[in-house]
Amino acid sequence: MSDVYNWKEAPKAQFAVLGDPVAHSLSPQMHMAAFKALNLPYRYVAIRVPLAELHKALDHLAGIGYVGVNLTLPLKESGAEWISNPDPFVAQVGAVNTIRLAGKSGVNTDAPAFLDTLEDLKVHPDTDVLLLGAGGSARALAVALAEAEYRVKIFNRTRSKAEEIAKLAPKRIKVLKEPDPTGVSLVVNATSVSLSGEDLPIDWKKADRKTVAYDLAYGPEMPQFLLNAALAGLKVMDGVEMLVRQGGRSLEWWLGGRAPLEEMRSAVR
Ligand code: NAP
Repeated sequence: MSDVYNWKEAPKAQFAVLGDPVAHSLSPQMHMAAFKALNLPYRYVAIRVPLAELHKALDHLAGIGYVGVNLTLPLKESGAEWISNPDPFVAQVGAVNTIRLAGKSGVNTDAPAFLDTLEDLKVHPDTDVLLLGAGGSARALAVALAEAEYRVKIFNRTRSKAEEIAKLAPKRIKVLKEPDPTGVSLVVNATSVSLSGEDLPIDWKKADRKTVAYDLAYGPEMPQFLLNAALAGLKVMDGVEMLVRQGGRSLEWWLGGRAPLEEMRSAVR
């Protein structure tokens, strides 16, 4: 685990992941491995930023010479309000995870990274996907899945937030009253419950054996969400490969060239 800095005491560095909490993030070790492999003299650190202070923190980091930041929970939607040059996808979904501070531009690398991993899992378009959560990551994933021609069923503890997301692609995103996994090819946990060691009330008996259970969280222990799915005989996937793919895409957007994905993967596995 890397050191976590308060944004007002941010050290001299060029890149950072901002979040609250952020201590769980493997982005610093992954990006430092990339810089080493590319022989670049950059530093990437973890900085805790409370949601209410994000815009001040971004202004401050820009002022002290940071080049780019990644945003993790719960900052992706507020981050989209700070940038003035969003790419079209960020403008559409209102969630950003990769920012270039000079020029206030931003892209979302979570969504394409997630879709890349679905190809590996052989979870194909034109199937139903149950998406759990309606935070910054779920917003981007819901729209990306809809645009890739999956049929999205979304469930969130706070239903109104799921309804807001459904408005972004009403033909392809439906809001559920219960997190029912019947008939879906994929169940995605895009809530933050696994970070706090909690679980979601899914009746895994209703899922088909071919259904894949996917938790965006990662860590040394398998989350309860995936343990329960595995016990029910489902194939499971955690968020490490998505982390690597989104980090690789962020690095390529900031610096150009090709990200050293193998070195980045080895640093977090
Ligand atoms: P976020 O914006 O803070 O959203 C959190 C979501 O979790 C909200 O929908 C919230 O519901 C729900 N939630 C929180 N506590 C809950 C509980 N006790 N019961 C039910 N629902 C609960 O977070 P985010 O940025 O979308 O990130 C979500 C997760 O994805 C995090 O674990 C993050 O680390 C992970 N992630 C991983 C990657 C990767 O590369 N592997 C990329 C992106 C995100 P309410 O709306 O009701 O509050």
